[in-house]
Amino acid sequence: MVAANSAPCGVCYYCRREQENLCEDLLFNNGAYAEYIRIPERIVNKNMYEVPEHVSYQDAALVEPLACVLRGLEECGVRAGDTVAVIGLGPIGMMFVRLAKAVYNARVIAIGRRPTQLDRAARMGADQMVINSEGADIVEPVRGMTGGRGADVVIEAVGLPELWQLAIQLLRRGGVVNFFGGCPSDTHVSLDTNLLHYSELTCKASFHHSPALIRKALDIISRGFVTAKDFVNRVEPLTNLLEVMKHLMSHNGHLKTAIIP
Ligand SMILES: [Zn+2]
Repeated sequence: MVAANSAPCGVCYYCRREQENLCEDLLFNNGAYAEYIRIPERIVNKNMYEVPEHVSYQDAALVEPLACVLRGLEECGVRAGDTVAVIGLGPIGMMFVRLAKAVYNARVIAIGRRPTQLDRAARMGADQMVINSEGADIVEPVRGMTGGRGADVVIEAVGLPELWQLAIQLLRRGGVVNFFGGCPSDTHVSLDTNLLHYSELTCKASFHHSPALIRKALDIISRGFVTAKDFVNRVEPLTNLLEVMKHLMSHNGHLKTAIIP
């Protein structure tokens, strides 16, 4: 079985409006670094699924981040043939690249800081790459790749105020941006009001997922569109957890580590 990390109540104002991700009583089950885990009853009833036989545990473990990414793409109304620019190529950015390409048949422009990330994005299906090195202009290259228009959809998957501001400059008129990366608290952005108004830009900021999207994510995994091999590049036993966490905090280019109890 695979259990999501939350379950909505199903009866509050938000749940009744199909915004279960914003449920007033969202029940979380945080922390799964153990040999056994007690899943709360509500999650068992509403957000736990049987893993198909051909799907590995490592693959199934991707349902949660994938469901969040799916929500991000659905909120933007991505259509086949759209140009989707993804800023930030960590695990989440890579999932956006992969799903935008494989599931939504979009044309993907991947924007990242390191050449190794751009290579990986190309293997995930990105059509074009832009390096966002210190002081580099990324607005011109993206406009150049889109006939001067800008991208239909821009995803910010880093969580830096300056990149939120940059993201809207990459959009075409009538385009949609998703400020997906959560910024540090107490940070603010300054947006060009004329650009927002006269170019009729839509700003979204997706958060979390819903049971329907967890099911959809599991379906995408079971059909082979996404596999843990693309995202997990390290396997460690539970006893090494502290060391793994320290390692992750130093941003050393590792994507995801599978913890095997
Ligand atoms: Zn609710």
